[in-house]
Amino acid sequence: MIDESDKDPLQSAIARLDAMTRRQVELLRRMGQLVSEKDSKDATIRRQTDEIRAMRQALELTRRQLMVTEAAGISQWELDVGAGRVAMGTRWDEMLGGERIAGGWNLLDLEKRVHPDDVPAVRAALKKALREPDGRYMVEHRIASADGWIWLESVGTITERDERGAPLRITGFNTDVTARRTMHAEVEQARRQAEASNRAKSEFLANVSHEVRTPLNAVMGLTRLLHQSPLNPQQRQYIELIDRSSTSLLALLNDILDLSKIEAGKLVFEQIRFDLARWIREAVALHTPAAEAKGLHIGVDIADGVPRKLEGDPGRLRQIISNLVSNAVKFTDRGRVMVTVRVAPNQVDLSRDQLRLLVAVRDTGVGISEEKQQQIFEAFTQADTSTTRRFGGTGLGLAICARLVAMMGGVIHVVSRPHEGSTFRFTAVFSQAEDGLNVQTEPMLLEPAPTPSLDVLLAEDHAVNELLMRHLLAQMGHEVTVARDGEEAVRRWQSREFDLVLMDVQMPILSGFDATARIRALEAARPRARRTPIVALTAHAMAGDRDKCLAAGMDAYVSKPVSPVQLAQAVREALEATGHPARDMLPAGDLGFAIGRQIETPEPAASTMPAPVQMPPSLPMTLPTSTPWSGMFDMSQAIDADAFLQNMGGDLGAVHEVVVVMRADMAERGREIQLAASARNHELVAEHAHTLKGALSSIAAHRAANAAAAVQTALGNRNRDWVTVQEVVAALLREMERVDAALVQLA
Ligand code: ADP
Repeated sequence: MIDESDKDPLQSAIARLDAMTRRQVELLRRMGQLVSEKDSKDATIRRQTDEIRAMRQALELTRRQLMVTEAAGISQWELDVGAGRVAMGTRWDEMLGGERIAGGWNLLDLEKRVHPDDVPAVRAALKKALREPDGRYMVEHRIASADGWIWLESVGTITERDERGAPLRITGFNTDVTARRTMHAEVEQARRQAEASNRAKSEFLANVSHEVRTPLNAVMGLTRLLHQSPLNPQQRQYIELIDRSSTSLLALLNDILDLSKIEAGKLVFEQIRFDLARWIREAVALHTPAAEAKGLHIGVDIADGVPRKLEGDPGRLRQIISNLVSNAVKFTDRGRVMVTVRVAPNQVDLSRDQLRLLVAVRDTGVGISEEKQQQIFEAFTQADTSTTRRFGGTGLGLAICARLVAMMGGVIHVVSRPHEGSTFRFTAVFSQAEDGLNVQTEPMLLEPAPTPSLDVLLAEDHAVNELLMRHLLAQMGHEVTVARDGEEAVRRWQSREFDLVLMDVQMPILSGFDATARIRALEAARPRARRTPIVALTAHAMAGDRDKCLAAGMDAYVSKPVSPVQLAQAVREALEATGHPARDMLPAGDLGFAIGRQIETPEPAASTMPAPVQMPPSLPMTLPTSTPWSGMFDMSQAIDADAFLQNMGGDLGAVHEVVVVMRADMAERGREIQLAASARNHELVAEHAHTLKGALSSIAAHRAANAAAAVQTALGNRNRDWVTVQEVVAALLREMERVDAALVQLA
């Protein structure tokens, strides 16, 4: 049994123990709590430490990046939008020359250092950044530095906005781009200078060529006159030498002019329909006499499948071929020169209406060494310096060819072996002319475009032609003064200044060539303010006319029968060639009637007898639908009504006038040529035949014009036989009667 008194102390001991245990438990719990709190704090600290480390690394990276940007000449800035202050990177002071403003720049002070011309751009850029949602700022401007103006490229963006989205801060970079800007400006300046000097060079060349051509024309004109005067054989030889030298000088000038035109980008290509075979044969025919004189065989082969009618610039094509053939003849002593034309095998890159031609000029001449083949297409190179001495030439021909070929979308190259001959091949792209259109006639303009009024001197001896020309010129708005022969033309020219002279080449007393030569010589002796533009009127379009007209000092030529378009073009070319102030007021568009570039016109074949004539096809679609005479009667036998009307610029009143004059003239000349033929007066028959041929072709009486040409041929025959001449004159008279009958119906 446990004593009561014993029980008390025990129980109190238990109770104390219990209390202690509970306290201990409480302490342990608390401790546990503290431990877990500590753990979580540790984790937080660890996380924060990691974060701080990452931030440090990021900062370090940014610092390094900033160092790099600063090293690269880039300086950062930050605009506090509200305060209007800009804090600048350290690089800034260096950029501007060592000034440091604590707390950044006041925006307005900063603006004072910006170049006044650039302030508006800077303000606009800032306004745009603050207004537009992308918040981008970008501008290039000059700013004053210790060394003067420098160019800054300033790029920034809004980096902080308030809760409503209003911009608080813009941060950005400035880059010194002075070097780049200067370089750019220098390059630009250099480019402008190069362009200007190239232009100046071309202009200089063109001017020099022109300036040299004027006295050269005088020399050539005077040489011609001298050649016609009584001379002893030695003098004649000297004169011929002068003539030959001046002709080659003129060729050189033309080459230089061509090349400088090409280089100045001023060469205009024509786009006209033409008869390919005819142009190629003509180009080759120019060199036939030279080839034959050397005993060379010369031929043209145009493959089947090559279209007859193409569209492009036939004059330039002829120039290329003529150049290659001329070289081939020049550099070949024995054998042959062949020109072949075919459709090029490769047509894939062309549109359906285009055609690539392949032309080859082959010779059996001296050939060209491989090394020289590389150079001959460059300007002023010849295969051999001794070439010049032996063969003459300028070394420009092939350079011009290569450039022309390139402009025609083709390439040129040569295959050659020394002593075995050379083959030059080139390609050129043309448009295919539509079928059914007349190839040989230029597009018709019934109403020529208006031109400024010019004071024109017309030298023309034939009444019909005079009337025709007068009429065309009046239609173009020009004033006309007429001279009836070359001498009168010179006299009138001396009496006052004309804007333009239209010169028939074949006139009594003094021919157009001689009258022109005289005018040029007079001009050279006492220069006027301006060289008078002279347009030749030639009876037929022959390849040689170009050189003859040029040599005589003319600036352009038109072949009879003259059409309004041709005339307008020739006038324009002549004014252009002489720098006449009215040239720019003339209608644009260059169909090309200047010397050397000519659209073919129907021309009576001089060698055929009157009977089997091919009528040039007429142009029904260009006629006004209701001419009083359409369908009235069939005039195709005597006069081509369409062509006649076209020659008269579509004016029926003028047609009636011409009819009256023409009938009177034919009656008189008919009598006279018959008398002259029976009197066997060669000169008189020739003169009438010539005049009639011109007049008849003017009124598109082609058969009769052919008959007149046949008279000329019969006269020109070396073993002239008067019976034949009288027969062809009779045939001509018969044709003229039919023409007269047709004219009666028109009157
Ligand atoms: P050039 O006016 O001197 O003839 P080109 O440019 O036409 O100038 O020709 C340059 C040079 O190329 C000629 O001088 C000649 O040496 C050479 N050459 C051109 N064509 C032929 C050819 N068919 N045969 C031999 N050599 C040629």
